[in-house]
Amino acid sequence: MRTLTVVAAAAVVIAWAAVVQSAAGDDPLAVAVERYANEDENYSQRIKEYLAAQAEDKALTAEEKRRYSNAYVYYGYLLYRHDKAMDAAQRFREAIVVDEGNPLAHYCLALLHKKFISLQTFQPAVEGLRTAAKLDPLLKDSCREQLVEIINTAKDKAEAAIKEKKENDAARWYLLLIRNFDGKTKADALEKLAVVEEAADPLVVTVERYAEEDPTYGQRIQEHQAAHAQGASLTAEQKRRYSNAYVYYGYVLYLRNDQNGAAQRFREAITVDKTNPLPLFCLGRLQLKYFGVNKEGVAYLRAAKELGGALTPSCQKQLDAIVAWLREQAEASIKRGSYIGAEPYYRFLAANFEGEVKADAQKKLKAAEDEIKAEKMLREAKYLLKRGRDIEGKKKLDELITTYAWTRAGEEAKKIRRGGKIDEKPDVESPAGEYAARERWIDLETANCIVYYKSTEYAKLVAKRVEETLKQVTEQLQYTKLDWHKDKCKVFVFDDAEAWAEFKSKSGAGSEWAAGFAYPTLREIYMDSSDLEYMIDNILPHELTHVIHREYVRDDTLLPLWLLEGLAVHNEFAKKEEKHDMVKAALASGHLIPLNRLTAFTSYPGGGSTALFYAESLVLVEFILDRFGNTGLANIHKKLRKAEEFEKVVKRALKLKIEEFEAQWHEYIRTKQ
Ligand SMILES: [Zn+2]
Repeated sequence: MRTLTVVAAAAVVIAWAAVVQSAAGDDPLAVAVERYANEDENYSQRIKEYLAAQAEDKALTAEEKRRYSNAYVYYGYLLYRHDKAMDAAQRFREAIVVDEGNPLAHYCLALLHKKFISLQTFQPAVEGLRTAAKLDPLLKDSCREQLVEIINTAKDKAEAAIKEKKENDAARWYLLLIRNFDGKTKADALEKLAVVEEAADPLVVTVERYAEEDPTYGQRIQEHQAAHAQGASLTAEQKRRYSNAYVYYGYVLYLRNDQNGAAQRFREAITVDKTNPLPLFCLGRLQLKYFGVNKEGVAYLRAAKELGGALTPSCQKQLDAIVAWLREQAEASIKRGSYIGAEPYYRFLAANFEGEVKADAQKKLKAAEDEIKAEKMLREAKYLLKRGRDIEGKKKLDELITTYAWTRAGEEAKKIRRGGKIDEKPDVESPAGEYAARERWIDLETANCIVYYKSTEYAKLVAKRVEETLKQVTEQLQYTKLDWHKDKCKVFVFDDAEAWAEFKSKSGAGSEWAAGFAYPTLREIYMDSSDLEYMIDNILPHELTHVIHREYVRDDTLLPLWLLEGLAVHNEFAKKEEKHDMVKAALASGHLIPLNRLTAFTSYPGGGSTALFYAESLVLVEFILDRFGNTGLANIHKKLRKAEEFEKVVKRALKLKIEEFEAQWHEYIRTKQ
């Protein structure tokens, strides 16, 4: 490589005279280089000396290198003239390395940055011009002109970015102007930033602004980079000092849409300095941007706010906006007539905020829950009345009127009870059904069900599995009376995850993570089929079991949760070894949920015990079927229907004391293969 450079350089010297004499035109870089060449009589002499040293392969001292720094500039200049900007920049940088005080090198590099001005090259262009002006008073005027051009270009770029709806870029241009200039330029940029900021990404604006307000910010990032480059291991104190360097790396990754990488860096920053609000803010914003309003995002913003400081107002603004959005969503949902849709928003507000926001949300949540319960009762009453089950239907209406008289459904119940007409609803009667009815379905009818679907590949599988499950579950329950021929079970199968998610959010039914859910009283099942095997083997038999089960007992509130879920899981077609192993391990380690607690659950235990709850429920049902058969299970149901306590149920149905029953269950768990 060296030989080649020397040859090229020799050619350069020969061409020298021609270059000096050629018109430099308006290009300030050319003007400056040529002026230097003209004014410094030693200029070409030094280049020759440098070339000679190179040719002899002589190692140069630092002092010699400094003396020849303009030789590097000159190579750079030639490369520049041949449109090799990257190579030219490299030479100018070398010139600065060998002589930091070389104004021409700073000037040329800055002009190159200016020529290709961008959000990345703005800062080095401005700094380079200022350094050059300081080092050589003769360059001052030219530098000032160049800086004015940079300001104007930045303003134009910002305006163009706004037109293209790239508010982040616009904000960054203004922030660069604010950071680097004073007076009118700064005032203008501040004013424009305030406008564009509303539409820009708060993460971008905040990190940039933080950098602008903390004078040691850039310095620390450089220190960290240097330490990192040397492979030095940092002390905890140093890491803490450089925590914003992690944030900055994260920010760079964020700008490249690498959200995982960015989150990783922000987390590192939090780990090294727990008192730094910036990474908490960034992580919160990142979560909110990519996952919508969510628990973690809000928690990070709140934590950043708690730490106080300059970020507090911005955090507060973000949090206020989230609260306003959640309230808006809830209210819009109520306006559309769906309290089921509003409930999750109020629940979120109540769980993730404090003070007035929490109190207000709790109040509205309670009201929405009452409305939902009332609506459910009304739907059930209408369902019964329409099918001629008048006594049950009227009983339900009366119950609704006494319990939830003030609700919208309560008002309607009163009207119906006074002899008013029942509103005619579409064929499907749940709120989910109304939404599902808007999709384009094909239907496949079997003896007991109608499968609504869009792709034939799974419709038959679903229909077959429905009939198999029906047979299986009715045998287990000895439920011979089941007859759905006249009023078939409706199974809706969504064929892509996106449509499923949209349906759930629009209808407000089913939780965010649910792959299926059922309205047992209405004989409706809704499922996502993006994992076909899981849908056929798990979701469908599980949900269908719930439907049959509740119909069998009429009033599902009489049944304990373990029995509902245990039977549903038992009828899934997938393997259940893992659940048995989990229960066995829990018993061995003393973590088994004891029978009296298991049978007392009326809602799902939260946290880590949910999986164990399901597994134990399954094993308990299987124990009953294994030891006491279908008849034993049917006897248990008969007693439970009379609302007897489980202890008494076991005594009457199985002729066992509860302690004996529990001991036998444990034995079953231990010995089951
Ligand atoms: Zn279930």
